[in-house]
Amino acid sequence: MPTNKAWTLASRPAVGVSEDNFKLVEREAPRPKDGEVLVKNLWLSLDPYMRGRMNDVKSYVPPVGIGEVMVGQTAGEVLESKHPKFKQGDKVLAAGWQLYSCMKGEELDKVDAGHAPLSYYLGALGMPGLTAYFGMKDIGAPKAGETVVVSAASGAVGSVVGQLAKIAGCRAVGIAGGKAKCDYVVSELGFDACVDYKAGNLYRDLKEACPKGVDVYFDNVAGEVLETMLRIMNLFSRIVVCGRIAEHNELFCHKNLGSVLVNRIKMQGMIVFDWKNHYPEGIRALAGHMAEGRLKCRESVAEGIENAPKAFIGMLKGQNFGKQLVKLA
Ligand code: NDP
Repeated sequence: MPTNKAWTLASRPAVGVSEDNFKLVEREAPRPKDGEVLVKNLWLSLDPYMRGRMNDVKSYVPPVGIGEVMVGQTAGEVLESKHPKFKQGDKVLAAGWQLYSCMKGEELDKVDAGHAPLSYYLGALGMPGLTAYFGMKDIGAPKAGETVVVSAASGAVGSVVGQLAKIAGCRAVGIAGGKAKCDYVVSELGFDACVDYKAGNLYRDLKEACPKGVDVYFDNVAGEVLETMLRIMNLFSRIVVCGRIAEHNELFCHKNLGSVLVNRIKMQGMIVFDWKNHYPEGIRALAGHMAEGRLKCRESVAEGIENAPKAFIGMLKGQNFGKQLVKLA
């Protein structure tokens, strides 16, 4: 059997994540037993939620245990199958920061990669794209003519949110860190405006970019950006509480929550798994937009499993530009 290389969790981060929190382990890949499938992973997705799984706190899923393989989605192909639904060469979504995954057939999702590159099924046509799709459709529910703002706008989720807002006939405004990301969001993705939250004038710049206030805020970051957004939300507006990357390393006590009451804002958390049974609908819709040229995406690719922790830490600091991936083979 081939040699597997897997990143395990060596220790929990004290505050920020460091490369010492991970340990690379090498051992022979297991032979699949009855009902199992051995997958050669080609791509690893790095996502902000993994930061939360490194802490031993109550959340919507249990944390990664010390010594366990880091949680993460991969895209790869079947090497050997002892499950009737899969055969050698099938493209699938598997799991773990590792070169080979041996999993029960029921835990794998087959991918029809005929229409787009396999890596897109970890990004715009995968979990992040589906988060944007269902968060907008069922919680943000934008109507034509409304203003939609999204934070982490150049990233995997945010870039899709803004493009869906344009497809819905809305004014799409991004919030991103730095001029290069803001320029990309407007000139490449077609947002109407993008505000650089690092420029130091977030409230003033948002007011200018949203002259009619904000009807939907898709919150990917929480923290001070959310506090500022609460000051410019419209009556009966909606906030999709999707991510809190700005709060992973610190306890945050929010100001301006009074705006939720005064403006009758509907503020709802979402976890994309809750739409698991509807994923095929979302993938079809997103792939359709992509085929029609209305949905674009960008990827940041790190090379080789050895570089996964470095790329992950960089992504948490905003060094990615688009969906962060690791090319494994
Ligand atoms: P991105 O591709 O957007 O990468 C993360 C980005 O977050 C960075 O590039 C950086 O962009 C931004 N960022 C980092 N720190 C801060 C900060 N302190 N303040 C503001 N922005 C910051 O990641 P994803 O698109 O994969 O995920 C976006 C969010 O959505 C995350 O919070 C994630 O946890 C959440 N999510 C939630 C899901 C759910 O089911 N609820 C499912 C999937 C994702 P910049 O340079 O612009 O600062």
